[in-house]
Amino acid sequence: MLLIKNGRVMNPATGMDEVTDVWVKDGKIAGFGQQGDFGEPEQVIDAGGCVVAPGLVDVHVHFRDPGLTYKEDLQTGSAAAAAGGFTTVVCMANTKPVVDCPEVLDDILERAKELPVHVKQVSAVSKNFGGKELVDFEEMVRHGACGFTDDGIPLTDAVFIRKAMEMAAKVDMPISLHEEDPSLNEVNGINKGVISEQMGIGGAPAVSEDVMVARDVMLALETGAKVDIQHISSGRSVDLVRYAKSKGAKVYAEVTPHHFTLTEEDVPNYGTMCKMNPPVRTSWDKTKIIEGLMDGTIDMIATDHAPHSAEEKEKEFTAAPSGIIGLETALALGITNLVKSGYLSMMSLLEKMTVNPAKLYQFDCGDISVGKAADLVIFDPEQVWQVERFASKASNSPFLGAQLCGKVRFTICGGKIVYTAG
Ligand SMILES: [Zn+2]
Ligand SMILES: [Zn+2]
Repeated sequence: MLLIKNGRVMNPATGMDEVTDVWVKDGKIAGFGQQGDFGEPEQVIDAGGCVVAPGLVDVHVHFRDPGLTYKEDLQTGSAAAAAGGFTTVVCMANTKPVVDCPEVLDDILERAKELPVHVKQVSAVSKNFGGKELVDFEEMVRHGACGFTDDGIPLTDAVFIRKAMEMAAKVDMPISLHEEDPSLNEVNGINKGVISEQMGIGGAPAVSEDVMVARDVMLALETGAKVDIQHISSGRSVDLVRYAKSKGAKVYAEVTPHHFTLTEEDVPNYGTMCKMNPPVRTSWDKTKIIEGLMDGTIDMIATDHAPHSAEEKEKEFTAAPSGIIGLETALALGITNLVKSGYLSMMSLLEKMTVNPAKLYQFDCGDISVGKAADLVIFDPEQVWQVERFASKASNSPFLGAQLCGKVRFTICGGKIVYTAG
């Protein structure tokens, strides 16, 4: 029996928001308040001044395992998740080999059982990310895939993506899409605009994302598939998602913390730590993203946690790989840049990091009602802290050294404490 005392319990799944005690027994939420016959607790956490919320759910991480474990592996990725308050994460399929057959999937899910947090795995859409031959959707679902994506490599063939959506609809799983038309990108990882021009290196224009989103929200409408637009970065794409939703398409959108925090103006300062696909764009795009978060067009915050080695990120801008880590700064960036700035309520921020992603992926988590799994994050919403080190194997983050507001104190998964702030 674990007792979490005096926290502000916030559960977006039910709207619960009150200062009370939480009792945890046998890995589940046993009850709230002081009324229960719960006996003597074996362990007590004083959560006074803290928020007690469902463990965070991230539907977009890269743990690089198997094959690229010099960047991250299942153990270090899970440690980063726990340190960031996440208890459920979804790994992308661009490992080595790609997760496009049951053997690779089985191996990951078998090893994931030993991890401190819930690590889920999507399947690739196409064999070896070739964009030509579909994986066996039904077989991958039988082996435990929770969705489908070729994240990292855009699917450019409209006939192929329509077939993939039809299969995703048939197996009732989300299909998640990295939306950039490579033929419109001159150089990846930086917005084509004033800064790319100053740096003289071409760029990836917003329209490269817009044309793909326009195509795919229309195909979502036609096929009825649940389509998750990943790491949305363009303001016009936010408008397209809003339009598709208004027509009844099952279209959902994720945004990363860096896309609601940074703009292209930050690239000269951060260099390759601000290089990612799709890139951060203009302040106009950022404003449209925040509006999309506020009106519900953007359903989820997902990190796109993308570890790379120091040597890789030390290369010159055009040669360095795209992507930054995000699990350990996501909650604080949300609190600092969305809640403290007055754009979202704390409840609304938590909704986009718990119940919304859990619902789309049909996970039995993201809700801390009585009887549900005791997956919890306990954080101090007012504590200002400096980002100094990471549990991740990588440290490719523009936020290293930043002062952020909102600090994870404890992460609890299945009733066990899996992270305690030092
Ligand atoms: Zn991507
Ligand atoms: Zn990604």
